[in-house]
Amino acid sequence: MYDLIIKNGNILDGTGSPRYIADIAVKDGKIARIGKDIEGGAEIIDATGLTVTPGFIDSHSHSDNAVMKYPDMAEKVEQGITTSVGGQCGGSVAPAALSAYPLTGEKECLATMGSFLKAYENVELGSNLCIMVGHCSLRKAVMGIENREPTAEELEKMKDLLREGISNGAMGLSLGLIYIPGTYAKTPELIELAKVAGEMNALVVAHIRDEDNKMIEAVLEFITIIRESGARGVISHHKVTKEHNFGKVNYSLALIDRANEEGLEIWCDVYPYAASSTSMSAAFIPKPMHAAGTASMMAALQDPEQRREIAETVKLRHGENLDWVMVTSCPGHPEFKGKRISEIAEIWGKSHYDTVYDLLLDSNLDGTACYFTMNEADIEKVIAHPRAMICTDSSVMMKNPIYHPRLRGSFPRVLGRYVRERKVTTLPEMIRKMTSMPAAVYGLKNKGLLWEGMDADICIFDADKIIDHSYFDNCGLRAEGLNYVIVGGKVAAKDAVYNGTRAGRIIRNDF
Ligand SMILES: [Zn+2]
Repeated sequence: MYDLIIKNGNILDGTGSPRYIADIAVKDGKIARIGKDIEGGAEIIDATGLTVTPGFIDSHSHSDNAVMKYPDMAEKVEQGITTSVGGQCGGSVAPAALSAYPLTGEKECLATMGSFLKAYENVELGSNLCIMVGHCSLRKAVMGIENREPTAEELEKMKDLLREGISNGAMGLSLGLIYIPGTYAKTPELIELAKVAGEMNALVVAHIRDEDNKMIEAVLEFITIIRESGARGVISHHKVTKEHNFGKVNYSLALIDRANEEGLEIWCDVYPYAASSTSMSAAFIPKPMHAAGTASMMAALQDPEQRREIAETVKLRHGENLDWVMVTSCPGHPEFKGKRISEIAEIWGKSHYDTVYDLLLDSNLDGTACYFTMNEADIEKVIAHPRAMICTDSSVMMKNPIYHPRLRGSFPRVLGRYVRERKVTTLPEMIRKMTSMPAAVYGLKNKGLLWEGMDADICIFDADKIIDHSYFDNCGLRAEGLNYVIVGGKVAAKDAVYNGTRAGRIIRNDF
């Protein structure tokens, strides 16, 4: 007797091969059999006319907070994600300079990745999770947030912690080269650390040093790190911002191709949206002012002279015109949710910058916005690239209003908008980029393929209907057309509604 039989689905096995119609039988969390007319299931799902694929793998996420705070990972499950790679952009839950984990029991000042993974390995999650070791976390643990090069001894200590993390199950090293303190590292430090990953056959993934005017230089730096270290590499959420940089991805993707022709192994991932998201205070109040606190920042914005100086500084980065900024939450003016700064400025009869600063003052500096700085044509080029994987770049934080539609919509959006409507690539190829490709890149040996013996992580959807409904002015809406999400052989979501099943676990590398 099988636990579950999925009958008559159009199977896309994750390899990129065309579909075929068959039944899939699941037992004890594994795909037990694939064939015609399989009988004897405790539960039957009729998938006639539907597409059956491996569960989606979110190649770049910040879901490691799920282990402690949001173990349901509901927003991930509800978009078909059955495995996430967390600890990205240089920041991971471990190592940490403080004993921040209730379950590790450590009282000492450093909790390692090994002790973290051991303490949390049996925590039941809604979806599976594996973790990278973040470079910012390594640096913070060893040398705080100091803006300098590490001493030889400190570099050795970081290498030891990285080695410890990978040998205990982390998937590799993640870099976040715009974030403090990762941004303080020069290329030689990164090469030395990447060599540890290379020796252990692990990955180095990077939020590269610049995604703006110097994006190409940043890609070249990353390729150098990969070439010198011998590690395999992934460029995270690959994109370029600002109109005068549009089209540069043609060049960066060609650099990735050439590096692979040279014998290096480099991939990238991408989220399918033309806007990023962060708080308005982070975007419009210079970083050094934040340390002084909210009251001090508000006082500065109330003083006309200081406000003018702040605006002049920020304009150097953002320019005069803010029609690319859409307000997504603003406690003082909820009526402006979904409006562009230029529209609000028109209503108020104020300059764009005075509008932003008055919105912030009226909201006690709370308020979030999305920043439309990318180009649709570029996004399509990256999504279609044969070495690009799909990601959310998102944490798990349903209760926090500061989020981006990618938290709920990335994977259904790629299938609905970019495959069905825009036809940037075929459905079997896109499924490969969401499943077997990240499984192979990250070394997830039992995931990403609908073959007998593989883990029974499965999505069942209507390829004619699947689409995201979460958008910038309404991030909470679920996707449509995603009939079932199965994690470890158990149905975890039906019609994109998570049912509370916790069949996911932390996954360790198997290098
Ligand atoms: Zn990032």
